[in-house]
Amino acid sequence: MTRHIRVGVLVGVLCLTGYSPWMTRVRAEGFDKEITVVLRYDDPSGKTPVEEITRLAEALRRHEMCCTVGVIPFACAGDSHDPKEQSFHPLTEPIAEALAESAREGLFEIGLHGYSHQTNSRHTEGWFSEFKGLAYEEQLEKIAEGKNVLERMLGLSVTTFIPPWNSYDANTVRALEAAEFRCLSANPIGTADAASSLLFAPATTSLGQLKDAVKEAREAPGSAPVVMALLHNYDFREVDAARGTMTYEQFSQTLQWLSRQNDVKVVRVGDLADATPRRYLDNRRLLRMRKLFPRFLPVESYWSVHLSEEAALHVRRSMWLGLAVIYGAEVLLAAGVSFILAQFVSARGYRWAMKGILLLGPVLLLGGLVWTCQDGDFGAKAILAVAGILGYCGGTWAVVPYRLGFPLRRGLKRH
Ligand SMILES: [Zn+2]
Repeated sequence: MTRHIRVGVLVGVLCLTGYSPWMTRVRAEGFDKEITVVLRYDDPSGKTPVEEITRLAEALRRHEMCCTVGVIPFACAGDSHDPKEQSFHPLTEPIAEALAESAREGLFEIGLHGYSHQTNSRHTEGWFSEFKGLAYEEQLEKIAEGKNVLERMLGLSVTTFIPPWNSYDANTVRALEAAEFRCLSANPIGTADAASSLLFAPATTSLGQLKDAVKEAREAPGSAPVVMALLHNYDFREVDAARGTMTYEQFSQTLQWLSRQNDVKVVRVGDLADATPRRYLDNRRLLRMRKLFPRFLPVESYWSVHLSEEAALHVRRSMWLGLAVIYGAEVLLAAGVSFILAQFVSARGYRWAMKGILLLGPVLLLGGLVWTCQDGDFGAKAILAVAGILGYCGGTWAVVPYRLGFPLRRGLKRH
């Protein structure tokens, strides 16, 4: 018995310590790395005071920076979260002129941020959306009209689309292709098609988290990480004292800090030539894999960074290795502990208890699988449960041939 405990503990410790070298391997500090930072400012519309545009432009000009501005051509008059019919605030000439002037100066890239930025229904799968769920023709009509209005009023070409609430579907992608958009900028967990002609450039962080994201990009593998920080007018305390996280002066200081980072270049969404759909899908896969790890374990998944395709592949392989180590260790530990328990019960001749122990494993496994399928949760909790039960089944049922082997061995010894 003591020997089994020792072997079990040794296997467990070896598997768990295997996690540490894996973590170190994933963290590959890059040399000669250039971090691309994009600032995306959403929501200017006919309701926006011109001063908000000019203050943003001033700060960018002072530090020789640029950003992509998502403009709403026909902002709904009331609450954008309310799907009932509303009147619109079309983009005004003064706002259009302020945006166009900064765009001509190279400070702004103008993107289309929806049509009215009004949700089409409340809480579509827990999320507001202007486009998701609408027919292709309706989406195309809104997108094409919005593009035409912006291009006519600002006198420039608009090829970047930013869906309100970062929410869209496959029909939006098709409509954007038909309307000759070049780039879609939403979040990292949207829909994408590897064969799409669009570029997919997701926002990866907020302005308040930008410094941490740049630090994360430095630690990430690969030579071309991208960090895209999303900001709104309500992020500024002067505009919204309650929701604001920084003042315009602090924003200016952040831009100054960015300008002093030798390994950082700041570009606009439309400048990201290598934001391929394949890259987007590879990064999205990493975010999904992260959910397979138990929350209490540290995992280098680079939430705030859009990794290159090669770097994403490297991290993905490391994650598979990590998953094998974690859940393999759990199966072995559960098997070892349950084997010792079952052998103890069996050795004392508790036949009914032993039958219960043996049957409990398959019952739990079946129940666990049914529960997981019904719940649709294939995340860390489900895997933890199934791996533990599998280990329990293996450990308890291994006692049967082990106990049966005793008379045979004793018989052999006699001859
Ligand atoms: Zn918005």
